[in-house]
Amino acid sequence: MKKSSSEIDVVYAVLKSEYSKHRAPVVELIEIQTHDPFKVLLATILSARTKDNVTAKAAEKLFKEVTSFEDIEKLSIEKLQEIIYPVGFYRTKAQNIKELPRVIKEKFGGTIPSTVDELTILPGVGRKTANLVVAVAFNKPAVCVDIHVHRIFNRLGYLETETPFDTEMELRRSLPEKYWTTFNSYFVSFGQNNCFPIDPRCDRCPIFDYCSRINVKTKFLPELYLKSKRSLNSASRNDAPDK
Ligand code: SF4
Repeated sequence: MKKSSSEIDVVYAVLKSEYSKHRAPVVELIEIQTHDPFKVLLATILSARTKDNVTAKAAEKLFKEVTSFEDIEKLSIEKLQEIIYPVGFYRTKAQNIKELPRVIKEKFGGTIPSTVDELTILPGVGRKTANLVVAVAFNKPAVCVDIHVHRIFNRLGYLETETPFDTEMELRRSLPEKYWTTFNSYFVSFGQNNCFPIDPRCDRCPIFDYCSRINVKTKFLPELYLKSKRSLNSASRNDAPDK
């Protein structure tokens, strides 16, 4: 069942207000603190498949050593690995970071590009990372879909998609553009704090009434909801015709 756009307006407003109660995702924090696309790009690469607190520590260590592509050129891959350890896939990420200055110079004249298509040419930058950099570092409309966004939109019943890529394409069609640059932060924060992959906290969910809970299994459901389900079940048993 697809959600109407007015429901999405409410969901967006509620998640925006929830977001203010939690710590912002690490990449956004780095933008707030630095306003520097270079740091946002590096932090976004580090953050893939890595917890925010691990990314934050690794980014802090990295930014003590590098503030420009020239600084990266001076470091060996081994040193980069040592600095960013233990982020997920630190060996591959160190290699990708080491390659960045050359590719940026050769393809983009030394300037970080600001479109999704251009950014995905960079080593270690997939669509999710590219969209995040476009939205956070350049404040341009971009639909950044990660696993939280993909999961929550499908659970809500706003769309029905198989992969994050399909979700991005669907959202580009159906999500009002005014929400593009900000919705990712609100959904990621909500996915990290409430709508978990396993056993989401539907019992304390501020958008419970707007969620179709598609394919959701959880031991946390609101008591009132369980009560009304129990009384509906017993009513339907009592109404059953005698044999
Ligand atoms: S009701 Fe449950 S599944 Fe739906 S958004 Fe809330 S926590 Fe997620």
